[in-house]
Amino acid sequence: MGKIVKSSTSINWRATPKVELHRHLDGSVRLETILDHGLKNGHFEKFRSLLGENFNSPEKRQDFFKQKLKILKPMESLEDVLNSFWLTQQIMDGPEILERIAFENVEDCFLDGIKLAELRFSPVFIAEGKKHAKNKFDYETIIQSIISGVEKAKKKYPIEVGLIYIIPRSLNMVEIKKCHEVLLDLLKNDKLVQSNIVGADLADVEFYDRMDEFKPFINNYRNAGLGITIHSGENTSADFLKKTFETYNPQRIGHGIHVMDDKKTIDMSVKMQTHFEVCPTSNILTRCSESIDLHPIRDMINAGLSVSLNSDDPHIMNIDLTHEYELCASKINFNEETFKKLNKMALDSSFVDSTRKEKVKKYFN
Ligand SMILES: [Zn+2]
Repeated sequence: MGKIVKSSTSINWRATPKVELHRHLDGSVRLETILDHGLKNGHFEKFRSLLGENFNSPEKRQDFFKQKLKILKPMESLEDVLNSFWLTQQIMDGPEILERIAFENVEDCFLDGIKLAELRFSPVFIAEGKKHAKNKFDYETIIQSIISGVEKAKKKYPIEVGLIYIIPRSLNMVEIKKCHEVLLDLLKNDKLVQSNIVGADLADVEFYDRMDEFKPFINNYRNAGLGITIHSGENTSADFLKKTFETYNPQRIGHGIHVMDDKKTIDMSVKMQTHFEVCPTSNILTRCSESIDLHPIRDMINAGLSVSLNSDDPHIMNIDLTHEYELCASKINFNEETFKKLNKMALDSSFVDSTRKEKVKKYFN
C-alpha cells in the first residue's frame, strides 16, 4: 500500500508543533488589552470628539480602533505602520501592563501551537515619550516586568521562551546608550535576566552609513554571550546584507529576503550558515513583496539557505503563525515535510540553551 498523503487542507496547522524565532512582543498586543488599558487610563480621550456618540458603543469603538491599530491591507505609506505601532506604544505605560502583555504574548504563542518561541522587544521604543509616566518606569523596570510576565506564563503553559533585546536604530542615541548600560549590568548580575535574554537585534530603518555606530553595542552583547540577529535586507538591497555580515557577523538575519538578488550574497550566506527569519505576510503588508506567489521563501529554501517561518507582528498584522502555515500550504504548496524542515532549521538556529532545546526536540524529529 502506498503512503497516504493528506491534503494540506485536512491538516490542522494550529496543532502542528512550531518553533518561532521572529515575533515582536511590543508589536503584538491584543486589541482587547489595548482598549481595556487605554480606556481605563485615558489614553484615547483625543478620539472621543472624533467618534462622538460612537465612542460609548463598545462594538463601534472596537471597530474604529481595529481600523486604526491593525494593518489589514498592504500599507500606502510607512506612516500607516508607524501609526499602528504608536497607538500600541502609548498604552505601555507601567510595569503591570508590560507584565500582562508579556504574559499574553506567551499565551498566544502556546495557542498558536508554538513549542519554542523567541520574543523580541525594545525598551527604548517602549519608554519613548514617557518621561512623565506616573509609575516607576526606568529601563530596568521595563526589562524586569517583561521577564516577570514571561516567567508567570511559563509556569502555566508548557512552552520554552527566550527573549531578544532590540536596539531601535532610528531612536535617540543617548537613550540607546543608557539602556545598553542597564542591560549589560543586568546580564552580569541578574540570574533571571541571564536565563531569559538570549539574543540581541537591530531593528527599524536600516542606515547603510551608520552601521559602524552600532558595532560596539553588538560586540558587547556577543561578548556577554547573546546570539546576534539583525533586521536587514527587508526593503534594502543585498549590499546592505553584505555590509551587515561584515560589520556584525550575525548568526541570523531578520527578513533578508533581498539575499536572492545577488548570487554572491547567497553563496556567502550558505557558507556561513546564516539563518534567515522570514515573515511572508509582514513583507506583503509592508510592500517588500507583491504577493505570496512572488515571495522568495521557496527560492531561499531551494538555494540551500537556512530559513524559518515567522509572524513578525501578529496582532498589528491581524494574523498569527498558524495563518502563515495556512497561507504557505494553500498558496505555495508547502506540506508537512516543508514545515518540518523549516522548524528543524529554526530549532538549530535558536539562541536558547541546549537544555531547553532538548526539551522540545521530540516534537520535531
Ligand atoms: Zn521584525
